[in-house]
Amino acid sequence: MTSPVFPDTARAVIIGGGVIGCSVAYHLAKLGWRDVVLLEQGRLTCGTTWHAAGLVGQLRAHQNMTRLVQYSAQLYQNLETETGQATGWKQCGSILVARTPERVTLFKRIASAARAQGVACEIIPLAEAARRYPVMRTDDLLGALWLPDDAKVNPADVTQALAKGARMNGVRIFEQTRVTAIHQKAGAATGVTSTRGDIKAEVVINCAGQWAKQVGRLAGVTVPLHSAEHMYIVTGRIEGVHPDLPVLRDPDGYIYVKEEVGGLLMGGFEPVAKPWAMDGIPENFEFGMLPDDWDQFQILMENALVRLPCLEKAEIKTFMNGPESFTPDNNFIMGEAPELKNFYVAAGFNSIGIASGGGAGRALAEWIVNGEPTLDLWPVDIRRFARFYDNNAFLKERVSEVLGLHYMMPWPNRELQSARPLRRSPLYDRLAAQHSLFGSKMGWERPNFFAPGKEEARLDYAWGRQNWFPHAAAEHKATREAVTVADLTSFAKFLVQGRDAEVALQRFCANDVAVPVGQTVYTGLLNARGTYESDLTVARLAADRFLLVTGTAQATRDADWIRRHLGEFSATLTDVTSSYAVIAVMGPRARDLLSHLTKAPLDNAAFAFGAIREIGIGYATVLASRRTYVGELGWELYVPSEYAGGVYDALMQAGEEFGVRNAGYYAIESLRLEKGYRAWGRELTPDYNPYEAGLTFAVKLDKGDFIGRDALIAANEKPSARRLLSFVAASLDTPIAHGGELILRNGEPAGEVTSAAYGHSVGGIVALGYVATNGARMDDAWLSARFEIDIAGERVPVRASLKPPYDPAGAKMKA
Ligand SMILES: Cc1cc2nc3c(=O)[nH]c(=O)nc-3n(C[C@H](O)[C@H](O)[C@H](O)COP(=O)(O)OP(=O)(O)OC[C@H]3O[C@@H](n4cnc5c(N)ncnc54)[C@H](O)[C@@H]3O)c2cc1C
Repeated sequence: MTSPVFPDTARAVIIGGGVIGCSVAYHLAKLGWRDVVLLEQGRLTCGTTWHAAGLVGQLRAHQNMTRLVQYSAQLYQNLETETGQATGWKQCGSILVARTPERVTLFKRIASAARAQGVACEIIPLAEAARRYPVMRTDDLLGALWLPDDAKVNPADVTQALAKGARMNGVRIFEQTRVTAIHQKAGAATGVTSTRGDIKAEVVINCAGQWAKQVGRLAGVTVPLHSAEHMYIVTGRIEGVHPDLPVLRDPDGYIYVKEEVGGLLMGGFEPVAKPWAMDGIPENFEFGMLPDDWDQFQILMENALVRLPCLEKAEIKTFMNGPESFTPDNNFIMGEAPELKNFYVAAGFNSIGIASGGGAGRALAEWIVNGEPTLDLWPVDIRRFARFYDNNAFLKERVSEVLGLHYMMPWPNRELQSARPLRRSPLYDRLAAQHSLFGSKMGWERPNFFAPGKEEARLDYAWGRQNWFPHAAAEHKATREAVTVADLTSFAKFLVQGRDAEVALQRFCANDVAVPVGQTVYTGLLNARGTYESDLTVARLAADRFLLVTGTAQATRDADWIRRHLGEFSATLTDVTSSYAVIAVMGPRARDLLSHLTKAPLDNAAFAFGAIREIGIGYATVLASRRTYVGELGWELYVPSEYAGGVYDALMQAGEEFGVRNAGYYAIESLRLEKGYRAWGRELTPDYNPYEAGLTFAVKLDKGDFIGRDALIAANEKPSARRLLSFVAASLDTPIAHGGELILRNGEPAGEVTSAAYGHSVGGIVALGYVATNGARMDDAWLSARFEIDIAGERVPVRASLKPPYDPAGAKMKA
């Protein structure tokens, strides 16, 4: 084959010829992009892809991540027919085994989640597991799970097949060509410099695997990943091992096993990983391998010998130690960089790049072609990170923990421990001294609950009621019956100001934000499909100045989205998150408490629900906003950071007579679910519109044009296919739901729980979840059908409702 002429322009330049780069190239070409060029510094697959084990496990924690792998599976099966290049696809199924009762409970939960996600999965008796995997020891096991659609492939062959398919559709691939610079103009990527020459391009795509952080830095883009060593061994032939053997995973022993040429390939995810390349990846690391490290591998080998006694005498033919890149939260990184327009990233695949490669390549190609993702990709969206994540010391420590997460128990409320504390609110030390147990979100340390008296703040993981249950219950009740103070400093806060601020916000927001100064408005930011990009509160501080308050996790995403759309307007966005602490004072005694510290009138006439005013609290002047996320009378105080300690002290002191106490995020979660308040990333995502989410009140179609309006008008013309409902368990004594559980209606799968908690005021599980309606009217007859939530195999009867179970009329917060 003659090699193509090296171009000086292209529509898209893809950097990296691993499975991901080739998949993006293949899918861009399939979507009709003709002028696509892929540059690989070595040869195709020479980075991490060539030495992957090739497991394709389909079920993921998030439905859309499962869909990506399901699509990969479909694609890999058919690529040979399309391209003539085999992929080694073999649908062998996989078996997971449990050594502990907790893992058995997890399997039951997985089986329920799999039904909700449409993945074939069943608990099987150990005898059947032994029959399917005869060389496995089972007498010490407690349970097994069977996923018949899981498969294995040859990663290098899959990649070559994708590359061939891409070439067949016009993609030009150049090996031995390294990208050394990214060109940019006016905040957008415009091309690359490579060792063969410059290429001008409309779009540059960073698929450089573990090198993606360096390539990102060439462009000033944060790609937070770090390499870690990942190892497996391959044995010679073993009797009883044959190509149809399923993939075996023994997560309590940290190992996975796959048949390979009549022998076994055994690798795993040890609890403490070994970061690699702290000073950067060596030059020319092409088809590179790292030295054998039997000390690091020992924990996997010991566990494998327990599960597979046949390994004792097996010949070890290969010790494979290759680096792979891991990210701060064990999810990969996709999307257009918030720092640089037209510069896209797909990297950091945390050891699931082969399984996810087909789907991720298609999803990114669609994102590029459409200018936005076509489905909710928030778990892997590059905008879940921020600039501060590009810190090697942080990343190195974090990846030591992250690799092991694959097989660690995914406990409800599991928190990462490494590289903490990172971001601390001005109240951190005060709250720590009162035994706050902190969780971490977007780097912020946030109080989850407070251990009373001298009790140590500790989180004991369990599927049932965890140790903090009574403490969060007390905080919940105090919020409903007296008053609590909560540190919500991690909220992201933006000032949008300028001559066009109102016009611009009217264009972005589905609600009407052209309100008088001193008013706040809850609104969605929608995309052209009419589905959620975000939800936030807009507070008008002046004719040309608005304060936007949004969720902790959305800081980068929302700032990026708003800035992109501000282009044509005379208005700017400034991130003021670090300038203000936020202290929520919530509960029926909130007015009494605040009245002790301010002369400002707080009655309904002077300070109605939804208003925002500057008031004095002790010596400090703060912005008080009368809104609530817990459904009670209360104010959120926006306090310039340096005053926060003083304001908090004054509140706690004056609050003594009203029974004030601290409240943490676990209490806030149960409080908000009793009120049916939706959360971004759970109930509100780019997969749902406001009608499906039951937030019609926050849409004003008649205010004039706004992004998503046309789509909403069209959606209004036909009945919704699904609807978010509130659920309450009919009985007090049920297992605990945590989200992800299957919802059944009249015994048939109907949806998935998005959020759940124990509602201490309603006395039972409270949950939200989307349910397929098939266009039915949501009347009492439909809602009074038999609803159940499958919690680890137990079907818990629940009542469904369009209204929240607690204070449905909203009288309390307007008291
Ligand atoms: C031991 C091991 C076992 C694994 N097993 C599995 C498994 O069973 N299932 C699974 O799904 N995943 C598995 N993985 C993970 C999987 O291999 C990776 O997630 C996947 O290969 C990542 O693909 P990629 O294209 O992002 O990266 P890579 O394959 O590393 O491709 C990136 C490419 O970019 C090139 N590049 C970098 N910088 C430049 C530049 N400046 N200019 C031009 N080119 C550049 C590199 O040379 C490289 O070829 C495993 C990984 C390891 C290490």
